[in-house]
Amino acid sequence: MLPRVFLVGAGPGHPGLATLRAVECLRQTDVVIYDKLAPAALLDFAPAHAEKISVVELGSDHVERSQPTLDLMIAKAQQGKTVVRLKGGDPLVFGRGGEEAQALHAAGIPFEIVPGVTAALGAAAFAGIPLTHRQHASAVAIVTGHEDPGKPESALDWPALARFPGTLVFYMGIARLERITKALIEHGKDAATPAAVVYWASTGAQRTMDARLVDLPPTVQHAGITPPALIIIGDVVALRPELAWFEKMPLFGKRVLVTRPKLQAGDLVTKLAALGAVPIALPAVEIREPMDWTAVDRAIAELQRYDWLVFTSANGVYAFLGRLLHQNRDLRSLGHTRLAAIGPKTAAALRSYHLFGDLVPAKYQSEDLAAALLEKIKPGARILLARADRGRDVLRQELAKTCTVEQIAVYSQVDAVEPNHPALEQLRRGEIDFITLTSSNIAKAILAALDEVCRQRILSGRTRLVSISPVTSADIRALGLPVAVEAKSATSDDMLEALIEWQIAAG
Ligand code: SAH
Repeated sequence: MLPRVFLVGAGPGHPGLATLRAVECLRQTDVVIYDKLAPAALLDFAPAHAEKISVVELGSDHVERSQPTLDLMIAKAQQGKTVVRLKGGDPLVFGRGGEEAQALHAAGIPFEIVPGVTAALGAAAFAGIPLTHRQHASAVAIVTGHEDPGKPESALDWPALARFPGTLVFYMGIARLERITKALIEHGKDAATPAAVVYWASTGAQRTMDARLVDLPPTVQHAGITPPALIIIGDVVALRPELAWFEKMPLFGKRVLVTRPKLQAGDLVTKLAALGAVPIALPAVEIREPMDWTAVDRAIAELQRYDWLVFTSANGVYAFLGRLLHQNRDLRSLGHTRLAAIGPKTAAALRSYHLFGDLVPAKYQSEDLAAALLEKIKPGARILLARADRGRDVLRQELAKTCTVEQIAVYSQVDAVEPNHPALEQLRRGEIDFITLTSSNIAKAILAALDEVCRQRILSGRTRLVSISPVTSADIRALGLPVAVEAKSATSDDMLEALIEWQIAAG
């Protein structure tokens, strides 16, 4: 019988550490029941229609309260639905995956278990602590720190753990750190053994504290960081200065707001996470269909009238060509029309339809596109400009000086900042390092949504604004706020590069 329930490991926190199989399972599921520690970004792989239920919502986020999750999983499977049970790390390492699989077996529901990168492996790689090493450790023990070492009924053999010839990794132990270190030392472990606590391993929020075993509890106490955290004890911890690559990433630990519309934020979010940052999505605008397709449909019906078709955004390409196909036409109707794209992202969108731009300016702003076009086209040429229903009018004005320009709104862009969004609360509390502003409209939408406390964070330099271009910067300054970082040419890759340079210079 084919599996109905997939017990899937989501990895330790970095969404890129989920397995390909995990993504395959998510793509074909009807229901996802996910743990608190499973990275939220993975939920986006599930189809839009899939139900997404958090175990916290079920009141089932503690070991003693697993029944609601089991009941729901079984009920959904019995209704014929496919269920992904998404668990942090690996489902079978302190993940209750064993118990859940037993319950499924007892209910006669076929299941599959998809392993995941367990927190110990994520922490080892991202904090630079090899769990084994030919000179330092030939074994690893994965131990629960949930047990109170002082209790006589403890299931753990502390003398054996103290003698264990290798690296010890304690899960769920941070609240009992002092008792754990004491128990190990009392049973003979060298008090000077290198040891570390790794919080939020593999995410931009990762923090690692290391100290001698005996000094670890006071070191950690003063840091005041919230779990999840792992305790790693063994000589291998001493290798961190050479191996801790992630914590040396240029944007490590920086909290960066990504304000692009949800569907276009992915690329920037992934790149920021790879640079060690904590990307936080706060979509500023939303892309919708235009209120009225009449003008677009008329232009599509008469495409042969235009010499050039000009796109000023990837969204414009998707919207226009989507509509063309929707009208039962195909790319042949563009046969004789020349195509211009404002920048590399727009050109890439054309290429995704197997179309090459005839013109992409060397710099990516309306003025540059207008200049490049005017150089290339004959006066009197007929130009169709496919764009959003709002934005700058420069391109049309410039082109209209010598050509016949028709402008159509192929998509609509509306402000979409949610006033109670948690990211705004973080900004108020002074927890955001940078806000990326990837267009003038986005900048205006975000800045309009800021209250006085948020504005003060920016004016005082706690939070810095990162602008994609001089035009966007001018709009930001016109709203009375300073721009700290500006991209050289208007692409998000340039913006990231400028941000990295700024951060390196700032130390
Ligand atoms: N099944 C999970 C473990 C669940 S138990 C796995 O295989 O990783 C929860 C414990 O895992 C937490 O108390 C903490 O000790 C550890 N943990 C999970 N994610 C972590 C992370 N990103 N960083 C540090 N510890 C983590």
